Amino acid sequence: MTDIDGNAVAAEIRAGVADCVETLQAEGVDPALATVLMSDDPASETYVSMKQNDCEEVGMRGIHVDVDDDAPAEELYDTVEELNADDEVHGILVQMPVVDQVDTRRVLRSVDPAKDVDGFHPENVGRLVAGNPRFKPCTPHGIQRLLASADVDPEGKEAVVVGRSDIVGKPMANLLFGRGEGGNATTTVCHSRTEDLASHTRRADIVVAAAGIPEFITADMVSEGATVIDVGINRVERDGESTLVGDVAYDEVREKASAITPVPGGVGPMTRAMLLYNTVTAASEQHGVEIELP
Ligand code: NAD
Repeated sequence: MTDIDGNAVAAEIRAGVADCVETLQAEGVDPALATVLMSDDPASETYVSMKQNDCEEVGMRGIHVDVDDDAPAEELYDTVEELNADDEVHGILVQMPVVDQVDTRRVLRSVDPAKDVDGFHPENVGRLVAGNPRFKPCTPHGIQRLLASADVDPEGKEAVVVGRSDIVGKPMANLLFGRGEGGNATTTVCHSRTEDLASHTRRADIVVAAAGIPEFITADMVSEGATVIDVGINRVERDGESTLVGDVAYDEVREKASAITPVPGGVGPMTRAMLLYNTVTAASEQHGVEIELP
């Protein structure tokens, strides 16, 4: 059994991104990622500050805009417009979820597609579905890289994605069944209305668990030798302490899997690394500077 080390793969990607930042800066382009937060959710605050630290680590300019969570929605839309118009900002990420008064779809639509480093703008979703992605969404892209790092080529294999969200399940399925490297799998998407989930996951050579349910995928649900990717991040109480677990019952599933991602240290760091990757991609395209992506 191989533990797929997301921290190590993400560190390699960050090192490659740092080289891209240097190349861009040598050509007079200072790549910058803007994060926008309109929420008082402590988890979102943590995610945003981690993304800002990541920028610093690779020598990229990070800009953060906090919008008061009591403010009218227009303040968020206006902030995004200002960042769209700012030539010195190359990537924009609005941390989700946003507060209730904001129309999430409108925010996603309002980000300039060329700066939409999350890949959630309808134009970018369309391009992904059409097999011509501008930015691959960070979590599924990171997972593709993790599979490659473990020498797991999805081509011709049975892949089962558990979850159909817009940020993980759907784009993951698109990448897995799409043409090209890291794709060409026969892909099934399971969700909350799937009957007999285990009959699907047991068939899979690759299981991607993204249901948001702690330790939901158990050993009896996976076949011997499967590759298991755990996207879940769930905070639970264990022995009176708060701890993070994934969507996979790691200890028992690792006995059967040929490769598995741990939580933490699997998919999470990859999501963050691919955001940096998308930002240097955006800067390179906006300024016509060639870079060698990692
Ligand atoms: P979501 O809540 O938007 O979607 C969950 C999906 O699971 C839904 O499509 C639903 O149909 C499906 N589901 C629910 N119950 C099910 C069941 N009984 N059987 C089969 N499918 C079922 O969640 P999300 O945003 O896709 O995130 C999923 C998990 O991944 C969460 O734990 C989240 O915190 C985590 N996450 C991690 C990263 C990372 O970088 N590691 C990134 C994004 C999300």
